Amino acid sequence: MQPMIFAVLAVMQAQPASPVPSPVPAPPTPATAPRVVSPGPGASTTAPSDAISLFDGTNSDAWSTMEGKPITWGVTGQIGSPMAVKPGGGSIITRQKFGDCQIHIEFLTPKEDADAGKTGQERGNSGVYIQGRYEVQVLDSYKNETYPDGQCGAFYKQHVPLVNACRQPGEWQAYDIIFHAPRFDDKGQRTAKARATVLHNSILIHDDVELDGPTGYAPFKEEPGDGPLYLQDHGNRVAYRNIWVRPLPH
Ligand code: MG
Repeated sequence: MQPMIFAVLAVMQAQPASPVPSPVPAPPTPATAPRVVSPGPGASTTAPSDAISLFDGTNSDAWSTMEGKPITWGVTGQIGSPMAVKPGGGSIITRQKFGDCQIHIEFLTPKEDADAGKTGQERGNSGVYIQGRYEVQVLDSYKNETYPDGQCGAFYKQHVPLVNACRQPGEWQAYDIIFHAPRFDDKGQRTAKARATVLHNSILIHDDVELDGPTGYAPFKEEPGDGPLYLQDHGNRVAYRNIWVRPLPH
């Protein structure tokens, strides 16, 4: 080989390999592009565009008593305003039933219970029952001890929340829940337990936990079929506002 050719080869070998052209990403197609959903204004706690609003302050039409009658909890009719448990007025359920879903609900435990010296389960007790079967406990657990699987955020007597994310009584709080209903075979036998992820004030308190069955005192038994959202009258004037649900594909 001639020295000149050697030199040329040496120079060629010193060159970086020509880059392999990367494939051009395919443009999103209707099958792959995520669906567009407009978030609500502000901190996106207001209902997004595809949510079913269950309570925005204006009326309680989405709710009934357990007997199917209009509820007696106070509603002022102003958008954004709350409704509060009317002690003795009874628990309430949504007229619509839900399966797999995302739930947003805001609640406030009253200062009056703490001021009155109430403790444990007597302070700001209510509950958000998914499908009327699985209670995410509502309680004033701000500097208020009780059994951990009954404190605020617990799946009552089934799962202790990962952390206590409570705000003080008199301050608004929120649950964001992702729920997957139990599965059943054709004979009605359960093949998969219900599962849930819960954020309390945007803080993870349950990470895809399994639910063994309805929590204690749940008004509905576990069976195939959707169920309503149920809010508990436990005798304390807990307030709720801004409640919405996004059904999820089964
Ligand atoms: Mg309760």
